[in-house]
Amino acid sequence: MPGEQQAARRAALAVQLDREGLGALLVTHPPNVRYLSGFTGSAGFLLVTTQHATLVTDFRYATQAPDEAPGVDVQVERVNLWDRLGRIMAQYPVEALGIESSVLTVRDAERVTGLTRGRVVPAPELVERLRASKSPEEVAAVRAAAELAHQALAEILPGVRAGRRELDIASELESALRRRGSEWHPFPTIVASGPRAALPHARSSEREVRPDEFVLIDFGAQVDGYCSDITRTVVAGRADERQRAIYTLVAEAQVRARTGVRAGMSGREADALARDVIAARGFGDAFGHSLGHGLGLEVHEAPRLSQTTDMALPAGAVVTVEPGVYLPGWSGVRIEDDVHLGPSGPVLLSDGRTELLEIT
Ligand code: ZN
Ligand code: ZN
Repeated sequence: MPGEQQAARRAALAVQLDREGLGALLVTHPPNVRYLSGFTGSAGFLLVTTQHATLVTDFRYATQAPDEAPGVDVQVERVNLWDRLGRIMAQYPVEALGIESSVLTVRDAERVTGLTRGRVVPAPELVERLRASKSPEEVAAVRAAAELAHQALAEILPGVRAGRRELDIASELESALRRRGSEWHPFPTIVASGPRAALPHARSSEREVRPDEFVLIDFGAQVDGYCSDITRTVVAGRADERQRAIYTLVAEAQVRARTGVRAGMSGREADALARDVIAARGFGDAFGHSLGHGLGLEVHEAPRLSQTTDMALPAGAVVTVEPGVYLPGWSGVRIEDDVHLGPSGPVLLSDGRTELLEIT
């Protein structure tokens, strides 16, 4: 039944609201609005009480919103969304109203305070915590987004050669992703060559790839709103011994982490699966970011797999596993795959390819 999944999610949220002593949550973060209602528009507030859900949006979505959000009371406002929200809140008075304090601006929080007689309570991450455990449909969407990404990469890989600019490779890859049905790019595609691959968050530049250099490609697709996030590091020519050694080390760390990660482990323990391998060879300082992050309607979401996270990884989470070694002035390697933390262990959603690809 349309809207059934979203209704079940709102029921799960109602349990959390009760537990936190909140009468309602004002949901303003678009991925959370989508998760709870089905509405994909960019403008709208969703007021969820323990009994009821109202979506306020503007006239641009007059047709789309009721179609996408069956089971939700959709109110289309032509003049002022805040005034309309105030009237709806007066209809459902609560003693304590939660706001999404990790995304709402201070200015909007002040507006909300002016609209209710109840207490306004910062309630960060309530919906994000629900989103962390994925349903089979959500896992299937990430898997489809990963498959689409691999097909697009396979199409453009023969063109990853010396003499090509990073931006041209990125643009070809993005165009292949779109042609194959990706709704959007979850983030700007990174193509970083040679010494630029040592920058973990490089942007694609006008630099031309030189013969036999590493080319690091970090990209993703989006299917039914769900993102994939994949990194492959290839050689535009023939690899030398050092490239091969560093690549093999990262691949070994990555396979250990993606086959060893389990729900119930802390983020820190998951991170250590890869970090211990890299540190044991003396490259600990060259792995300067965390192992991975949750993946879903957003490309970075709960949980985190990092040295500073004590929280246990929730059952059903979809996470990235992306160790890297970055040597400034030389180059860098990262290998990133997407993994579902299923009941009987980790399930790979991307292709998990780890052999070093030399494009000649
Ligand atoms: Zn990535
Ligand atoms: Zn990532």
